[in-house]
Amino acid sequence: MKIEQDTVASVHYTGTHPDSGEVFDSSEGRDPLTYLVGHGQMIPGFEEEMLGAEVGERREFTLEPERAYGERDENALLQIEKSNFDELEKEGVLEVGIQLVAQMPQGPAPFIITEIGEEMVTADFNHELAGKSLHFSVEVVEVRAATEEEKAHGHAHGPGGHHH
Ligand code: ZN
Repeated sequence: MKIEQDTVASVHYTGTHPDSGEVFDSSEGRDPLTYLVGHGQMIPGFEEEMLGAEVGERREFTLEPERAYGERDENALLQIEKSNFDELEKEGVLEVGIQLVAQMPQGPAPFIITEIGEEMVTADFNHELAGKSLHFSVEVVEVRAATEEEKAHGHAHGPGGHHH
């Protein structure tokens, strides 16, 4: 069976930065990554590049930002009143570069503190891989048809997938 729309693919992958070769994410030493194909679970380029691949096949590809996590968006830089971070400041851990998670109505939103002023703090809500080209080496471990339930939910169930 090949990876196509409405199959569930399990893959081992290593993602590296093309220039430095530095690994930013890998399934090595973990369970393979399992995803429902064609439902937006993965970045677009990853889905496209893996279409048609069979079990045992290995593929290597480099994605430009628009097919990965998108370009950086300057509108995703927010100014937040410093008083919101009083607790962290008291503990002495409010620093440029730390990652925090905001509880938004639509769910948790991670951000990075990029600037600390007298009264305002700049929070960058861009994905940390936004604006970057990414190289992937991927090996297909398993491909199966998705269940009706998985298709309805828009994600894979079972080992390596989504649990309820
Ligand atoms: Zn589900």
